[in-house]
Amino acid sequence: MTEPIKTLPLVFDEPRGRKKPPPHLADYDETGRKKLLTDAGLPGFRAKQLSTHYFARLVDDPAAMTDLPAAQRDELVSTLLPSLMTPLRKLEADKGTTVKTLWKLFDGALVESVLMRYPGRSTVCVSSQAGCGMACPFCATGAGGLQRNMSTAEIVEQVVAASRSLARGEVAGGEGRVNNVVFMGMGEPMANYKAMIGAVRRLTDPAPAGLGMSARGITVSTVGLVPRMLQLADEGIPVTLALSLHAPDDELRNELVPINTRFSVAETVDAAWNYARTTKRRVSIEYAMMRDINDQAWRADLLGDVLNSYGDWAWVHVNLIPLNEVPGSQFTRSRDEDMDEFVRRLEAKGIPTTVRDTRGNEIDAACGQLAATE
Ligand code: SAH
Repeated sequence: MTEPIKTLPLVFDEPRGRKKPPPHLADYDETGRKKLLTDAGLPGFRAKQLSTHYFARLVDDPAAMTDLPAAQRDELVSTLLPSLMTPLRKLEADKGTTVKTLWKLFDGALVESVLMRYPGRSTVCVSSQAGCGMACPFCATGAGGLQRNMSTAEIVEQVVAASRSLARGEVAGGEGRVNNVVFMGMGEPMANYKAMIGAVRRLTDPAPAGLGMSARGITVSTVGLVPRMLQLADEGIPVTLALSLHAPDDELRNELVPINTRFSVAETVDAAWNYARTTKRRVSIEYAMMRDINDQAWRADLLGDVLNSYGDWAWVHVNLIPLNEVPGSQFTRSRDEDMDEFVRRLEAKGIPTTVRDTRGNEIDAACGQLAATE
């Protein structure tokens, strides 16, 4: 079933000659962590203690790692737990239950993550690249192009940082933990496939090797890099796949999601169906509602027909996102009555449909605007 991986176009290549982020224990499995220590002339068995501090106890202060010999502590920590990012700014909304952090990476690149707290659960939205090469014209991140891929540890650290804040009761609503991770921050996770999969493994590995999260709580969102979607289906990790479709027809999707000129709507939805069939996981179709662009009733009908041309089980659901308006952009949010009609049409065709609540609207928590203005 899996097709050969097509050669990906140049747009996926990050600029050459960039310095890599420092290696960190979250980049490696347990064997790799031990090797990193022994290569530095340090005892390999310390890797497990450091992993326990990082993933299980969520400790970041070396002074609190009292099971490590004081004389060796700094060297152990700088070898496996180097500082990867510093928070430049934190913005809160929704009475402190939505927290957006702007991070500065080791080389000055800026990325952001968002923690969203709901009754009984918390979701972290992570970035997978600094910038993005996909150039979707309605997205603030797309305008700046790709700076670089993030490392596995840089992706994981966003979740660990949120877990720490929740565990320490620093977020409104009291102590808590991270239940869901969505790859819907800056970047195209499928264009940084290896680091993304590494991060998924670290998030799901049982503690102390990883955070011990359920794969079902993780959502990987993509513009539709078909070869990578096929590859993900064969990984045997039941993460949720979200496909940013935004239009059911090639003519419009070519403009809204330029990669569509390479992988058509039919090829892309085929790959989404393949994912659902292989993993038995319901795929989520993301559709940002843009006034008079993609929100016509006939497009809702067409979207329903396209999705219904596959399995007769509920293999898919549609997530309508009221457009987060980017200043200076020609794209605006759909009228409420048009969104309502769009939902009605999809439901009439039997497609489960939800309208996403717009958390953190006033802090631009949905689309890379903060990093873009910095
Ligand atoms: N590159 C991935 C993940 C990052 S964006 C992807 O495209 O899926 C996460 C979601 O936010 C995508 O569906 C994206 O299309 C959407 N998005 C981007 N800009 C938006 C905006 N201004 N308003 C609403 N949704 C937006």
